[in-house]
Amino acid sequence: MLSLSTEPSERQGGRRGITLLSGFLGSGKTTLLRAALDPPASGTKPMVVLNDIAASFADGRFLTDARQDVVVVSGGCVCCTRRDVLVDVLKSDLDHVPAGSPDVRHVIIETSGLSDPGPIAFAVATDPVLRHHYALVHTCVALDVLDGLRMLEQQEVARRQLMAADEVIVTKADLADARVVDAVCARAHTLNPSAAITVTALGRRVRQIPAKTSPAVREPAADSRPHLHGIATVEFAADVPLDWQAFSVWLSLLVHRHGAKVLRVKGALEVEGVGHVSINAVRDVVYPPEHLAPSAEPGSRFVCIVQGIAPDVLRRSFSTLVAAK
Ligand SMILES: [Zn+2]
Repeated sequence: MLSLSTEPSERQGGRRGITLLSGFLGSGKTTLLRAALDPPASGTKPMVVLNDIAASFADGRFLTDARQDVVVVSGGCVCCTRRDVLVDVLKSDLDHVPAGSPDVRHVIIETSGLSDPGPIAFAVATDPVLRHHYALVHTCVALDVLDGLRMLEQQEVARRQLMAADEVIVTKADLADARVVDAVCARAHTLNPSAAITVTALGRRVRQIPAKTSPAVREPAADSRPHLHGIATVEFAADVPLDWQAFSVWLSLLVHRHGAKVLRVKGALEVEGVGHVSINAVRDVVYPPEHLAPSAEPGSRFVCIVQGIAPDVLRRSFSTLVAAK
């Protein structure tokens, strides 16, 4: 599982450990992170860096816990367009170590679903400042049991994420039968025999499969090839509370009409007579909404990450829904 240990390991050589949490869009990274941080680790609080390619970061609402130290890097991907921001965040946190105290603060980076872990590892290992203070100690990659095989088949970046893993965390095992879980684990081990596999349900470990080979020494790659090809992030906002019935019909039509082109829908809605609820869909799987704590921010904000659909088509369709109220 996610290692939140603040015990310095040999490999760290006195440096701060970084745990990288990667995985394709909708693979269940945030659930794993929430499970790992609850209850908060004793001792020094880890710094949590959350990355989202959308400019308005909806998941922030799920982790607004004063006990955690969360930095959000949004509006791009920390492996490419926002890599310099990540480097700055890590550097500036070094200034906050009280004089005389041991520098043991652990860092957890939850990358965007479209990030390649390689260039992040490269940045940490080669930056003239970071390499003296940080060591990437663990790369966890979440793999959705429902959709993992299809994503590994279709998405180059999903394969690259998997191949960078020290540990593959197969998520949502409660939603599939044992044969499907076994097939996903087998595929993961074919692509990356040096990763340990942890099978989880609802963010909790249910089974572990050891690595098949010891890790090969991998040199992290400097630059990712373009991996956002044809992918667009479309942001939606409405200031008036929405009618749940109308919205759920709209969302169902969207995911059914466009199928695999809708990679992800997530965010928070203000629903008439209900308040704020989360919405979360991964391709054609729409998860039940969850009530959210009352927010200072009224209205609804959510993002759709789509591949090969013109954003204007979606924006027009949503405006029609809001105007129909
Ligand atoms: Zn990137």
